Amino acid sequence: MDAYNLTISFTIAALVVSISDIFFTKIQGRMGKKQNFIFMCLLLIIALNSISNVITAVFLPYAGISRGALLAASAARYLYFVFHTALAPMFFFYVGRVCGVTLRTSPVKRYFFYGLFALTEVLAILNPLTKWVYYTDADFVFHRNWGEMVIYVAAGIYFVVSMLFLMTTWKAMTVKRRTGIVLFALITLIGIVIQFISSDFKVELFAEAIGFTGIMIIIENEEDRIDSNSNVYNRSALIMDMDSFIINKNPFYSICVRITTPEIISRQSTGDNTDAVERVVAEYLQTVVKRYSIYRTRTRNFVIILFTSDREFVMNIAKEIRGRFEKPWKLSDSMVLLSTAIQITNYPGMIASTNEALYMFDSPIPEHGEGKIFAGEDLNYLLRRMTVEKAISKSLAKHQFEVYYQPTYSISDLKLHGAEALVRMHNDDYGLIYPDEFISVAEENGLIDSIDDFVLLDVCDLIKTEHLENSMIDCINVNLSVVQCMKPGFVDHIKGIVEAAGVDKNLINFEITESLSASSYEILNGVVSGLKGDGFKFSMDDYGTGYSNMRALASMDFDVIKIDKSILWEAEKSELGEIILKNNIRMIHQMRRKILVEGVETETQIELLKPLGVNYLQGYFFSKPVTRPEFLRLLRKAEAAEAAEAAKTAKPNE
Ligand code: C2E
Ligand code: CA
Ligand code: CA
Repeated sequence: MDAYNLTISFTIAALVVSISDIFFTKIQGRMGKKQNFIFMCLLLIIALNSISNVITAVFLPYAGISRGALLAASAARYLYFVFHTALAPMFFFYVGRVCGVTLRTSPVKRYFFYGLFALTEVLAILNPLTKWVYYTDADFVFHRNWGEMVIYVAAGIYFVVSMLFLMTTWKAMTVKRRTGIVLFALITLIGIVIQFISSDFKVELFAEAIGFTGIMIIIENEEDRIDSNSNVYNRSALIMDMDSFIINKNPFYSICVRITTPEIISRQSTGDNTDAVERVVAEYLQTVVKRYSIYRTRTRNFVIILFTSDREFVMNIAKEIRGRFEKPWKLSDSMVLLSTAIQITNYPGMIASTNEALYMFDSPIPEHGEGKIFAGEDLNYLLRRMTVEKAISKSLAKHQFEVYYQPTYSISDLKLHGAEALVRMHNDDYGLIYPDEFISVAEENGLIDSIDDFVLLDVCDLIKTEHLENSMIDCINVNLSVVQCMKPGFVDHIKGIVEAAGVDKNLINFEITESLSASSYEILNGVVSGLKGDGFKFSMDDYGTGYSNMRALASMDFDVIKIDKSILWEAEKSELGEIILKNNIRMIHQMRRKILVEGVETETQIELLKPLGVNYLQGYFFSKPVTRPEFLRLLRKAEAAEAAEAAKTAKPNE
């Protein structure tokens, strides 16, 4: 086959490949981004160029004998130049998009790159009049002119700058994407070099078509960036994109939309509706903003990225979204109300790095945050959270935790019966921080294990050094975090600590809150029966505050149920509250569990509880949580009082 036929074959192959690519890209329904549009233009350029080349090649041999053939060949060659000139600038814009570079922020660069594009196009378009780019002589032989050099140099500039974009965002890109672009560049270069060496052997278009196929498979195909359930971008896409926006100093606002009522939904119905919830919300968000600006960062969390510095505009979108959450959503065949909390931040401004943004998107919203939009100073709670997080690590390192003990009493004789161990954090830098604030943070960042181990060790030490087995103390209560209980090997871990300390397991009573974080009743049940089987006691904490305490209550073998203070306080306030308290007590009795009521602050409350048949009391009326020495003083006093009483009752018999 001669060079002429080879060229035609390669050009037809380029046409087939580029048209197939256009077809595949079309049927896959991309995100509709500018990037996707530019890619389509690139493929079109290759296809049109191939058609032009074939026409030129076919008609040129007859140019001398037929005016029609001459016209067709010249027109095709002209169109080839017009479109081919756009290839390098388009590739440049494409790489810019992929790397997250925008020319919006720099007018000088923008004018230069658009201007150069316009200049080369004008040169190509005006060629029939000026012949500056190329001309053919009387024998139809093709000659390059200086205009072609300008177009080449421009293409070189676009190419080099594209590669520079690639280098600056190198770290923010996945290996796959980098390879995609570099491979394209290499294949194209090889094509150009071959074509340069033997000018009548035209393989450049074919090389480009193959290179674009690679880009289509690797970059344009975003399957690995898309969350299969909600059909919007996933977390790793967000990390990648934010990294490149930040590297390129590309300002943006982010709206984090969090769905905050899922637990109720998933527990009300038989199955887990989370997927369905995410689907309907993602679908709705696509009606508000472009699909490609939505990311699902974690369960029931969406982030929208908007390239604007107009705070009002962003606020209005957030308000619109919040408004939608006031109306019910259709989940398969039922209508449900969902609540949301929305956070707004911007770069640069509130956040300086992807990690900071993720910290914000991932940290829990403050209590009663539902229906709110958090922006600006509202986000200060995050700073506090960060402070607490730092304080925990520092306190752990410096052993600045202390265990307090709050005594519990039996209701029959109001005698000291036990105590609950409650942890405190004294930090040099941040002062005293209460567990209500730091336990949830520690549960999330995993430091809870060390804290709870510390508390258990302190309790073991107390029991051992003070010989509590020979005292009036029945047991010391130790709080366990559900998050920790779900970890494999938990039962053995606890057993190990207590056995090493040589403490009677019967003196330790673990408290657990049946909370929503218990992802599986089976595991929790296994922990309770495992520890109980070994001799420990178990209480259910905060009864009456959760959603489905009943189920846990019935299925798990607790010794004591601790009724939450809120139930007691409500009983004092209203008749309905009293009915609820009484019914709860009756039910627990029927299950043959003992009852402790927390939060007893007044004599009246004790009088209210006495006839109801509860077993133990705990609260400020008796004592606040106190330090270990103070607790021991309380204990010695109680023991002395008991001894005195015993002596008194013993005397008459003498
Ligand atoms: P909790 O287990 O329900 O502990 C009872 C909380 O109620 C304690 O708060 C206690 O000081 C407080 N309290 C007791 N009696 C009264 C009263 O009469 N009136 C009022 N207003 N409050 C009363 P504290 O010590 O701040 O602990 C808060 C929560 O932190 C605990 O709730 C528990 O869930 C958690 N926590 C405390 N220590 C630990 C620990 O060592 N490990 C784990 N995992 N969690 C802990
Ligand atoms: Ca407790
Ligand atoms: Ca409690």
